[in-house]
Amino acid sequence: MDPSWYFDSGAADHVTPDLHKLSIANEYSGDDKLKVGNNTHLSITHVGSSSLPPLKLPFVFVVPHLTKNLLSISQLTRDNNVVLEFWSTHCNVKNFQGKTLLQGDINNGLYRLPFHNKASVSTLAFTVVRTTLHGWHQRLAHPHETLLRRLISFFQLPISSNKFPDVCEPCEQGKSHHSHLPTSHVASAKPFELLYFDVWGPSPHLSINGNR
Ligand SMILES: [Zn+2]
Repeated sequence: MDPSWYFDSGAADHVTPDLHKLSIANEYSGDDKLKVGNNTHLSITHVGSSSLPPLKLPFVFVVPHLTKNLLSISQLTRDNNVVLEFWSTHCNVKNFQGKTLLQGDINNGLYRLPFHNKASVSTLAFTVVRTTLHGWHQRLAHPHETLLRRLISFFQLPISSNKFPDVCEPCEQGKSHHSHLPTSHVASAKPFELLYFDVWGPSPHLSINGNR
């Protein structure tokens, strides 16, 4: 199959028949189908992300019955802040400063971006990297360890290390509070007037700001 990506101004999303184009893929559970030119509806099996360095393709749908990889022009320009130029002999993907990021050609009257093997190797390598328990904790928005372990076993997520760290820095920071005392304009001029003072400390540990 032709591994190139073809530009499609009529497509709302990027679609590919090839699951291996995705670096991260999840089974698609929605009801949407891909409507093609002859009014047939093709099933979507997976959704995930891919890349065409330096371009990101954060949402790509896998539709096995397609014959080409299609790039949604609107999605591509929106996700990557790029400008597309279509010439009679070739096409360019440029950034807003006018620098050409990728150049494509024309095949049978269709503009396409060639597929680089280098990119496919790194994408493929990425699919077999198992993350740690802490990695899933970070990916899933830092859930509690009990919930995380339940999710891992329920969805049979692949993990390389079962150890949960003693300290997760973003979790600690997210739960820590640091409230300021209001600015006081009370000043005592003579003994036994209203007085504010700190009854505890110094702390054995430094605070975030280095205070005790
Ligand atoms: Zn965390």
